Amino acid sequence: MKIGILLLGLGLACASSPTVRPASLYRPCPVENDFALFRTHDLDESACTRGLLVARQAIHELGGLLGSPSGPVRIFLYASQQAYNERRLVPIESLADYNINTNEIHIAMNADLIFWKHELSHALLEMRMPGAPFWLHEGLAYFAQHQNFSRQVNCQKTTVASLPGHLQSYLPRIARQTHLPARVNLNLKSSREDFLTGTVDSIFYVFYLWHRRALQATLEEGVPRRPAAEFYQPDASYRPWLQSAYPAQLLPGC
Ligand SMILES: [Zn+2]
Repeated sequence: MKIGILLLGLGLACASSPTVRPASLYRPCPVENDFALFRTHDLDESACTRGLLVARQAIHELGGLLGSPSGPVRIFLYASQQAYNERRLVPIESLADYNINTNEIHIAMNADLIFWKHELSHALLEMRMPGAPFWLHEGLAYFAQHQNFSRQVNCQKTTVASLPGHLQSYLPRIARQTHLPARVNLNLKSSREDFLTGTVDSIFYVFYLWHRRALQATLEEGVPRRPAAEFYQPDASYRPWLQSAYPAQLLPGC
């Protein structure tokens, strides 16, 4: 089964979506060129204005790496995190999600800008490189959520410390991996550890590409698409780099 949903929270992908969110839950916001916004019925039109403002700020900050949307990004707004949670489709806790099949972002109105940037990174990547593999999607989203590419890179936030706390213990494990994950199955409880290991590996590999000044070229040249990406081998220097002390002072621009 192919990846259904990529999202932020524990970092994720879902192998199947047993339910859908009924279209009747939402009503459209006024038409815009760059976004197609929808809101739940309890939100008035001011929610559209606020959502648009945050979404455009996120796109502004991501644009230096990921460019502009090639078409309207579909975003569904919820009044609160609780309201979003009640409509969450994935079986684990998440803060927002991007559905790769429908190209939709679902997010709470008051979500922090980093969540907007995470999900919009997925949307921009999929527009630019349809079929991009899991590792590039999730690694890029975690990396980009802390950055503002309209100015110099944030040297402090591009460190290991930007990895969510619950994922930091995975660092020693990923040095033993031999390939990058193209897909994972979140619905299988037994695969949760493999899934999180793969997520962390993806984050560090994207970070490594950035560190080698190769991330932009990777985005321009492309990578094996799903499902061929299952056999993608990372750059041979990646594992030794992981095992070395982190050379923050060598970051481009730092
Ligand atoms: Zn994600």
